[in-house]
Amino acid sequence: MREIAIAVDGPGSSGKGTVARRVAEALGYQFVDTGAMYRAVGLVALRRGVPLADEAATAAIAAGLRFRFAFESGQLRVWADEEDVTAEIRGERVGAAASAVAVHPAVRGALLGLQRALGAAGGVVMDGRDIGTVVLPDAGLKVFLDASLDERARRRALETPGRDFLQVREELAARDHQDSSRAVAPLRCADDAVRLDSTGLAIDEVVARIVELARARRGR
Ligand code: C5P
Repeated sequence: MREIAIAVDGPGSSGKGTVARRVAEALGYQFVDTGAMYRAVGLVALRRGVPLADEAATAAIAAGLRFRFAFESGQLRVWADEEDVTAEIRGERVGAAASAVAVHPAVRGALLGLQRALGAAGGVVMDGRDIGTVVLPDAGLKVFLDASLDERARRRALETPGRDFLQVREELAARDHQDSSRAVAPLRCADDAVRLDSTGLAIDEVVARIVELARARRGR
């Protein structure tokens, strides 16, 4: 049996984080959330008052941060420079900041080496926007997970009770646009990716489908 790398890409709130984590659990693979890295860079830039448009300064943050990931009771915990930022990186303000710093080639370049190193030996499920296209172009299985904007906004609104649905929807659409239209490593389905639309599908079905594909590709 050959342990493969699995790339899971897709837009915000497509369910890829949950799906990637559960696929990793089912296969005994490591789960790597690359969005958390961009979010940590965005968070630190916001805190230090570094303009998000400043490529050199945000890239210096990306290059200098030490990341650590661990699983505790099924949840991914993220440390940046030994500080637990798990909860703080999840807010929409930090998500928007992550998307803003992610347009800079130098920021992406600073995170790429770490991401490739984590995927190099296989036995990993990595989720992001450019994993199948840029980070792990030789991944043994590539999945592009999508869902309609309404469905994704509904899921996001459920995670953040009290927020206005239309505003959540608008923010998601804006982030999708920024992620898909940037010049470097835009959100795009790789030519050899399996495209799955999770609108109206239970998460269990999506997970089962990907686990089945992975087992077939790694020789069960
Ligand atoms: O997936 P998540 O919402 O946590 O990602 C936050 C932001 O980080 C995305 O909107 C995107 O701009 C950026 N990102 C990226 N490439 C990745 C993962 C995330 O550009 N591989």
